[in-house]
Amino acid sequence: MLSWDQSSSIALMQRERAWVEIDLAALSHNVQQILSLMSAKTELMAVVKADAYGHGAVTVAQTVLQSGATWLGVATIPEGIELREAGIEAPILVLGATHTSEQIRAIEHWHLQPTLCTPKQALVYSESVRRATLPIHLKLDTGMSRLGTSWENAVEFVQLVKGLPNLSIASIYSHLATAEDLDPTIRQQQQQRYETALRACGYDFNGKHPRFHLANSAGTIVDSSLHYDMVRTGLLLYGLYPADHLRSYLDLRPVMQVKARVTQVKTIQPGTGVSYGYRFIADRETQIAVIGIGYADGVPRNLSNQMTALVRGQQAKQIGSITMDQLMLDVSHIPALQEGEVVTLLGQDGNEKILADDWANLLGTISWEILCGFKHRLPRVAVGKPLIKREMFDRRSLR
Ligand SMILES: *Cc1c(COP(=O)(O)O)cnc(C)c1O
Repeated sequence: MLSWDQSSSIALMQRERAWVEIDLAALSHNVQQILSLMSAKTELMAVVKADAYGHGAVTVAQTVLQSGATWLGVATIPEGIELREAGIEAPILVLGATHTSEQIRAIEHWHLQPTLCTPKQALVYSESVRRATLPIHLKLDTGMSRLGTSWENAVEFVQLVKGLPNLSIASIYSHLATAEDLDPTIRQQQQQRYETALRACGYDFNGKHPRFHLANSAGTIVDSSLHYDMVRTGLLLYGLYPADHLRSYLDLRPVMQVKARVTQVKTIQPGTGVSYGYRFIADRETQIAVIGIGYADGVPRNLSNQMTALVRGQQAKQIGSITMDQLMLDVSHIPALQEGEVVTLLGQDGNEKILADDWANLLGTISWEILCGFKHRLPRVAVGKPLIKREMFDRRSLR
């Protein structure tokens, strides 16, 4: 019997049906673009939670660190452990809340840095920590109404933590709720509350203080006075804009492309129904292509009869219900299409491109959710070489 060489066969199968391409050159280009907005003393935290917004956390983290980011942000402890197990040594902030003694032990063991959101959480940490000093990050709520102690109680919170043994305040941060809005009122109110709270705690913005950070991607673009000591960007790294009116500030390149192969081509007659429920019925002779990707891969079923894909550089309408593993395209305008040809669902082919924003607009959601929606069944295939520019090293050596 022939033996099956598992490792090489799985590698070969990566592009057999459907896959996600991650362009490392685009990723490092985007890092460079973000750094160009920042002063040399401001650090870049690359937010790589949710498997780097679906791009693959380890590859993304390695590339952004080579390109000039100095911190990583994750949502959960297992996300941090995955990076440590891959040998990544950069400081990692866990943005989510953690409480239990098991979690605290894991934080210490893996040298992760937790976010403390309440006095109670600080007390639990102080009692459970075994190391002499654990760097911790305090979260203030300045208007997001999510994690953190209200900015009005910052003084008591900071005083309490300062009095606790074993904890050292590495940063005090907050999070913006509306930074991508055209109207700056709420963002400015949050900034004022943040600064008022820090001043009330006795901090001087020019003197020695823990790191201050407030800006997400939109905040990083719209106003450099939000940068402080560090910015926390997610979406920009991946080459998308938090809002259309922010496009002119930066030249970003989408990092992710989603591709799949044609698995069958056929011609159907007028009146023929396509896919479950016959939500599409051909009104003329139609050449259709079956594509090996479906909602179990992360193509939302609500895009049925709405989305297009790129075939040989041309738009092709998706027709009929998207099924779990497959979907159909109308390719009547593309002669002699062959099984095995590659179709682009998200990305660029020739002069045509389809962005995660296009799907988000069709679905009434945001591009963040589209990126995070691609399932692990799709292999992530790295393409392109990160551009490691001389000035990136110079920039890092300034620190
Ligand atoms: C997710 C997250 C970010 C990054 O947000 P983007 O809009 O993708 O830049 C920054 N800070 C915190 C606390 C987050 O949870």
